[in-house]
Amino acid sequence: MNKLAQRVKDIEPSSTLAITARAKKMRQEGLDVISFAAGEPDFDTPQYIKDAAIKALAEGFTKYTPSSGIPELKKAIQKKFKLDNSLDYEPEQIIVSCGAKHSLFNIIQVLVDKNAEVLIPSPYWVSYLEMVKFAQGKAVILKTDSRNSFKLNAEILSKNITKKTKLLILNSPSNPAGCVYKREELDDIAQICVKNKLWVLSDEIYEKLIYENNKHISIATLNNDIYKLTFVVNGVSKAYSMTGWRIGYLAGDKEAVEATARLQDHSTSNPCSISQKAALAALSSDNGFIDKMRLEFEERRNLMLSELDKIGLDYIKPEGAFYVFLDISKAKIGSWEFCDKFLAEKYVAVIPGAAFGNDNYVRFSFAASMPEIKKGLERLREFISSPR
Ligand code: PMP
Ligand code: GLU
Repeated sequence: MNKLAQRVKDIEPSSTLAITARAKKMRQEGLDVISFAAGEPDFDTPQYIKDAAIKALAEGFTKYTPSSGIPELKKAIQKKFKLDNSLDYEPEQIIVSCGAKHSLFNIIQVLVDKNAEVLIPSPYWVSYLEMVKFAQGKAVILKTDSRNSFKLNAEILSKNITKKTKLLILNSPSNPAGCVYKREELDDIAQICVKNKLWVLSDEIYEKLIYENNKHISIATLNNDIYKLTFVVNGVSKAYSMTGWRIGYLAGDKEAVEATARLQDHSTSNPCSISQKAALAALSSDNGFIDKMRLEFEERRNLMLSELDKIGLDYIKPEGAFYVFLDISKAKIGSWEFCDKFLAEKYVAVIPGAAFGNDNYVRFSFAASMPEIKKGLERLREFISSPR
């Protein structure tokens, strides 16, 4: 008999996590590594959030909580949806989980039956595919056009819908391309989803990190029909620099959210009690933190783009999130080889586009300091110009 269950055997390791860990290890070994691999803000969690956690700990808030989250946190999430997105949810339509990744995992397991088709626009965040595989569904990768910042459009969507299509995964602002969908673009997509009764999973984890005049719009806000079909996922990881605290949340159809709660009851139970109190403080007032971080990211983005322009490389201009998706097709090597060599020769860590479904690109995170960006891009210039 096989030692490992087949559905687990097929799961690939997370390249984003693996390369980030490799860069960290090289740094610990004393090497002068610059990491543009990380998918997390490099800011400390604000003190008022830490204080709330310390208070919770001191007060002995260290026991099981309701599995789907404490009522006051659900209320704060309800309020956040109302204020930020004009979305109305009852507390029963909301569930708090151990990070947005967990929320996404849960709802995919809840919705996707064996062989059900899930539409995933490419390039995509690494974990969607594996989550669908684990559910034994069929991931259908939608090829998008770099000239449209890799955004999905109505034509590509319509062409790929079959009788088995159950779910579309949308991610705006997106990882890795940094694209932000406009209202008209979402409208076109929503119309098709409503017509075909497709569920939509809208991953809005980068909502707060958006640049220039771009605006975040949740597809769920467009009309009541699409609201009913959409599950919105968000969390505190990126907006409040709380990646390690592991708090994410999901909102949508009550019956599916209740099913998610049952799944959570038998897997993780509640997300960490102390983290929930910290997330409650975060959502209650951001104390100006988000805007400061956003402005800093915008400056770093601008620096990275101007350095890339000087080198003469093409990229997708990020409108949100904190990644630059860089076109390496001129280098005439695959993205894994590019990343392996760049790290081994120049000590700079970046993520191969192949991990996101596009081998002609690599992902540079600008969650790094301005001097690191300068230095890392100087190393890129040397790397690109050295003969191979
Ligand atoms: N969605 C996307 C697109 C992401 O990049 C991440 C980052 N890991 C997540 C979801 C998960 O975030 P969290 O840390 O809340 O699990
Ligand atoms: N989402 C981040 C990334 O894309 C963090 C790592 C992960 O969870 O995949 O790098």
